[in-house]
Amino acid sequence: MQSNWSGRLVAWNRLLPWGLLLAGALLPAMAAPAQDEPRWRRGVFPVVSFFGYTSHFGLRAGPGGGSQPHYGLDIAAPLGSPIRNWWGGVVSEVLAGGACGNGLVISSGPYEHLYCHLAGEVTGGVYRSGEVLVASGQRLQAGELIGHVGITGRTTGPHLHWGIRYRGQWLDPAVILRAMAMARRGAKPGPQ
Ligand SMILES: [Zn+2]
Repeated sequence: MQSNWSGRLVAWNRLLPWGLLLAGALLPAMAAPAQDEPRWRRGVFPVVSFFGYTSHFGLRAGPGGGSQPHYGLDIAAPLGSPIRNWWGGVVSEVLAGGACGNGLVISSGPYEHLYCHLAGEVTGGVYRSGEVLVASGQRLQAGELIGHVGITGRTTGPHLHWGIRYRGQWLDPAVILRAMAMARRGAKPGPQ
């Protein structure tokens, strides 16, 4: 089954100037619902061998000039680095091809988290990489090994594209990470 997730990453590029108009409405990072923050204490940072962030959420320069929305956070890591599941949930899609390359979508209640450019291969809707085997409908714990950093799809180097949607709206994963860190410290997020 060809998924529309990876297609959607590309489709936005063709919607300019509509994209720019929409970007203004969609891109301001929506604060994630406060009632979920205590549960994020058990949330897990998805990349084990963290190098740095190579592309943040929001508008960025496109290859043809102008700016394009980027609906996720790019986390650079060495090829083959383990990727861990952010939050317990159920695999709702296994992706192959397109801009995302090998990818997984995991649903955790109203949240969906997307992992792109994974190493390994997808055959018959099942993702395989080393000893990792992930199929649609599979239940995964937070922190479970779900894949490895690769260079599949539209990417120039090994990194994880990590996207999070809440009830269909993209969130800035950096906001989630900050909220996770604050929840662990037992602090309430102050006004930004
Ligand atoms: Zn990305």
